[in-house]
Amino acid sequence: MISDTIEFSKKIRSETLKMVYNAKASHIGGAFSMADILAVLYGNIIQIDSKDPENPNRDRFFLSKGHACTSLYASLALKGFFSMDLLNTYSQNDSILLSHTSHKVPGVELSTGSLGHALGVACGVALAGKIKKSKWRVFALLSDGELDEGSNWEAILFAPQHELSNLTLIIDYNKIQSFGNTNEVLDLHPLNDKFKSFKWNVIEVDGHNHEALDYSLKNKTDKNPTVIIAHTIKGKGVDYMENKLLWHYKSPDEKQYSDGLKQILNK
Ligand SMILES: [Mg+2]
Repeated sequence: MISDTIEFSKKIRSETLKMVYNAKASHIGGAFSMADILAVLYGNIIQIDSKDPENPNRDRFFLSKGHACTSLYASLALKGFFSMDLLNTYSQNDSILLSHTSHKVPGVELSTGSLGHALGVACGVALAGKIKKSKWRVFALLSDGELDEGSNWEAILFAPQHELSNLTLIIDYNKIQSFGNTNEVLDLHPLNDKFKSFKWNVIEVDGHNHEALDYSLKNKTDKNPTVIIAHTIKGKGVDYMENKLLWHYKSPDEKQYSDGLKQILNK
């Protein structure tokens, strides 16, 4: 239900804010921009048993923007993949919750953070699923900035060639990357047309609209891979962070933390 995923997204954001505040770490802007996508994915779409995360029949999810892992960790903990207490160890010595995603975390398929690699792996896994005539689906979530990596475009060529209709790519298109606006650093426009010319099934949505996300994530063709271009807002959910490059990597002070938490829980 959509009302459930909205409540889930509030919990994802509040736990993410706590983790970043306690650890004095960050990448919170990109963690918040994809929080609604994660809420719908883990709330309604991905078929994976949190108590049996390596079951061969599971759907596979690859977070390529591994630096924004806090909201993924929060999603997994809230879904019971591991204890909520573990979130308190984020970015601390000896914790498995590193500041970039690690495959040692239950529910995480691949260590990421070095950008531009997860989509290629996701394509290989999707091809394996197709060869085995498996029912499970493969999802990959990429940032917009990491589309600057040439390796992604190799994978974007590969997927339609092999008719990977079991693959759904989601682009967290928040228009900001680590050093500036994407249209100034390396312009992606027109992204829709680029994917269409590479023979993908292309869907554009408001990446904070749960109904639109739910509908588009259920959509797939019999032949072509699907890309969902999710238009998002970096830092979404806390007004002083929204659309601010500064919050790509910054942790809140005490007042910002309490203000942010109130905003998230009251929305
Ligand atoms: Mg971005």
